[in-house]
Amino acid sequence: MHPEEFRRHGHELVDWMADYLSGVGDLPVTPAVRPGDIRRRLPTSPPDQGEPFAALFGDFRDLIVPGMTHWNHPGWFAYFPCNNSPPAILGEMLTAAMGAQCMSWATSPAATELEQVAMDWLRQMLGLPQEFVGVIQDTASTAALVALLSARERATGGAAGRRGMDAGLGLTVYASREAHSSIDKGVKLAGYGLDRLRRIPGDAAFALDPAALERAIQEDVAAGLKPACVVASIGTTSSTAVDPVPAIAAICRRHGIWLHVDAAYAGAAAIVPELRGYFAGMEAADSIVLNPHKWLLTNFDCTAYYVRDRDALLSTFSITPEYLRTAHDAEVVNYRDWGIQLGRRFRALKLWFVIRSYGVEGLRAIIRRHVALAAELAGWVDQSADFERVAPVPFGLVCFRYRPVGKSEKELDGLNERLLAEVNATRRVCLTHTRLGGRYVIRMVIGQRATEREHVVEAWKLIREAAARL
Ligand SMILES: *Cc1c(COP(=O)(O)O)cnc(C)c1O
Repeated sequence: MHPEEFRRHGHELVDWMADYLSGVGDLPVTPAVRPGDIRRRLPTSPPDQGEPFAALFGDFRDLIVPGMTHWNHPGWFAYFPCNNSPPAILGEMLTAAMGAQCMSWATSPAATELEQVAMDWLRQMLGLPQEFVGVIQDTASTAALVALLSARERATGGAAGRRGMDAGLGLTVYASREAHSSIDKGVKLAGYGLDRLRRIPGDAAFALDPAALERAIQEDVAAGLKPACVVASIGTTSSTAVDPVPAIAAICRRHGIWLHVDAAYAGAAAIVPELRGYFAGMEAADSIVLNPHKWLLTNFDCTAYYVRDRDALLSTFSITPEYLRTAHDAEVVNYRDWGIQLGRRFRALKLWFVIRSYGVEGLRAIIRRHVALAAELAGWVDQSADFERVAPVPFGLVCFRYRPVGKSEKELDGLNERLLAEVNATRRVCLTHTRLGGRYVIRMVIGQRATEREHVVEAWKLIREAAARL
């Protein structure tokens, strides 16, 4: 592509992006497609000769966009939000334009140093003590694996890395029953084995019971096993339950166990002073993860991973073959030693753009708006005779179910499954479900940048209308 062509198409694309962002609310949230529909309309083999950009872009507009799920839509209430924002998109464009590979300081000095600055800004915003240092990972799942690997290395005094698996020590890991599936995956991948993952029961609010954690640890120690890592969640995926981190941290300290705090979604709320109470004890963790790509307006992917002891990270991940040695290694941070991948994208730029564009107060205002809307929705659910709220609402997620009188639990599960399908079939909104205490529950997360009160009002209306039709 000729530079002048690039310029012209680049301008066209920015125009398209601006129109898309302002008009996405008028599109259906979810596409009306069946498996294979898109693929069938695409050529099965690559073109021999280059095509004009207009042809590519036309196919993007006509074939790809109608097959996309619009996470940007103000009616997006599913899963957890995955936000972006105009400054983050512009930052991604510049990252793409430079195409730098930021594995070490020398391969892009400014990328490394900006990552240090952005991670330290975010640390201050979260109210974390100065001893925490941060690194951007691709996802919270990778960060969980990194934490489990570091914990394994520490618990075996480095023997796991040399001898493999858990060096024959019988390492164990603990997490609540509601902890994210990435913990199971990490336990598998890090060689602990799923049989060594203890799922600790929770209380009525789905938060981990520290007394049960203490008992499980003592039983394992008595059986000759070695507890290596506890994962505490602040904001579980099903219901945003908050584990009692201060009590869990005290147990970890007593037994010398690595504490990983998973705040992938909710962590962003720690920038709001009046919500910081939910994060009590977080400063006692060995590692903490939160996703600016969920609730802090930064394009996927951008996961912030903080550790207290950077040596524990380096001793797990640092491997320096001759061809990667540089003259500055003693004075600089080489982020390739802070995680699994060697090659790294320049992710700090978009986060830096977001923090500077909105300012800390601007970001707080957005989170406050979402939390207030969730509280309002929770109130409507509570006031409605036919609906039941099934978990506390500390952040932006409301878990509820339709509960007309005289139905069995099994019938209620079926009714709510149908209700969710009906509501989503409008394609005006998208919600998802989970199971809490064995019950089928509808989850509605308010966390999209563009979501305003009118959208929550509309969703609640669609839900009640669909319930009345069942
Ligand atoms: C979303 C989420 C994850 C996984 O995040 P990814 O960045 O998609 O890997 C892990 N834990 C919790 C609590 C989450 O909400």
